[in-house]
Amino acid sequence: METDVAIIGAGFGGLGAAIRLQRTGFTDFVVFDRGDEVGGTWRDNTYPGCACDVPSHLYSFSFAPNPRWSNTFSSQPEIWDYLRDCVDRFGIRPKLRLRHEVHEARWDDHRQRWLLRTSGGDHTARVLICAAGPLSDPAIPDLPGVDEFAGTVFHSARWRHDHDLTGRRVAVIGTGASAVQLVPQIQPLVEKLTLFQRTPAWIMPRRSRRISRAEQAAFRAVPGAQRAVRAGLYLVREGMGLGFLHPTVNRFASRLSLRTLRRQVADPHLRDKLTPRYAMGCKRVLISNDYWPSLAQPNVDVVTAGIDRIVPDGLVTADGVHHLADTVIFGTGFHVTDSPVVRRIQGRGGRTLGEAWTPSMHAYRGTTINGFPNLFFLLGPNTGLGHTSVVLMIEAQLRLVVAALRHMRTTDIQAIEPTAEAQRRWTERIDQKMAGTVWETGCESWYLDSTGRNTTIWPGFATSFRVRLRRFRPADYQVVAAGTTPNETEREHADAV
Ligand code: NAP
Repeated sequence: METDVAIIGAGFGGLGAAIRLQRTGFTDFVVFDRGDEVGGTWRDNTYPGCACDVPSHLYSFSFAPNPRWSNTFSSQPEIWDYLRDCVDRFGIRPKLRLRHEVHEARWDDHRQRWLLRTSGGDHTARVLICAAGPLSDPAIPDLPGVDEFAGTVFHSARWRHDHDLTGRRVAVIGTGASAVQLVPQIQPLVEKLTLFQRTPAWIMPRRSRRISRAEQAAFRAVPGAQRAVRAGLYLVREGMGLGFLHPTVNRFASRLSLRTLRRQVADPHLRDKLTPRYAMGCKRVLISNDYWPSLAQPNVDVVTAGIDRIVPDGLVTADGVHHLADTVIFGTGFHVTDSPVVRRIQGRGGRTLGEAWTPSMHAYRGTTINGFPNLFFLLGPNTGLGHTSVVLMIEAQLRLVVAALRHMRTTDIQAIEPTAEAQRRWTERIDQKMAGTVWETGCESWYLDSTGRNTTIWPGFATSFRVRLRRFRPADYQVVAAGTTPNETEREHADAV
């Protein structure tokens, strides 16, 4: 089958792309997703307590406000519902190819087309939008002995709802955004919860509240009211960005967090374990009112010794202590800087995106990549945020995608890619802007790749990203002629990095 555009992924990015294309007249597209329903990370993460830590009015598409949000910070089922509702509202369902995993996407130099090999058959497209998402492939550490474990093991993003945790001895590994949400939910059920913490998180109070029926009715009756709330939240959140760009601003927030810890955890030994010793914001700041109190309960142990190995009936830590467990839950995050999808995308000359991004990811405006014609990568390098909604970044990228497609149509160009020079200048500017931010204060986090570069976070306000992506700049792109030879391709790749 052939379409003008193929989209990989039906989460926030892929659905946003589909709706934008549909609404701007680029209606010849399909959306591939390996799952049996849309929703991406909001379909896959169903662990107890899963919710968003960005306010709902902002964590939604600007073009699809939802007056029915029931809480200022929505839970996973509501966000998943919202995405399914968008599919129907904008008539995207016929464009979906669910249960279609893309095994390979290869650029054909001569045909100037992307050739996709999917689990549901082959497909050809002129333009490829990769919206596979940075949080789609669970990362499970390679701990010795995991295969010999006699109990049940699973990752937070693949929750085993068929495994009742009541009365069990449960080991949770990791203390990131997912663990902080699920631990307080399962603690009252289990006989014993052992939490393996490598690094304590900075936690701020969760100031959420129910949205009343009267407010919902007002948002329905006066859509401008919801837009005004969104605009207010946008400004407040942009203000919070200051704390990341100028770390001293976070002193007040750090004091508030430590004061909350003192109030919620009476035991000084436990409090000491839970006290972060790095600058707030260097790793993702989490929000919760019940995580620390749940750790202070008598059936919980917080273990800070490193895990040495897994044995059939539990885990053994580096200090030789044997911790009994019949269930192990990995809250250990995702393959963010080493996502498997990049090994499946082959650009000019057969080079994979994984190869082009070894050892470090580079993209012009976080979206287009030299050597990969007509590829638009949503939430690519340095498009993540610590302070506000990533949906804002997706929408900025989509504006750029549409502008590029319009440019190609009006100038009758088949294929474009950013010049090596434009990509180099962009990367250089990002690296310069990163200096002095909180992410450069020396903690270890998944924001950093194996070279120590921060390739995930946008070192600025969401507004500055949106402004930079507002226009398509033809001078920063080169037209890709059919049949470019691999040698030329390699030379340009070498220039790009
Ligand atoms: P994460 O933030 O990457 O946290 C992984 C945790 O596992 C960290 O505490 C890490 O410790 C620990 N870990 C990893 N390998 C380990 C090992 N070998 N031994 C011991 N501990 C290990 O993952 P996540 O909690 O799933 O969250 C991922 C991202 O999803 C978040 O940052 C956020 O962007 C998103 N998320 C968002 C929400 C939301 O509300 N919007 C909710 C959930 C998730 P270290 O800290 O020492 O590395």
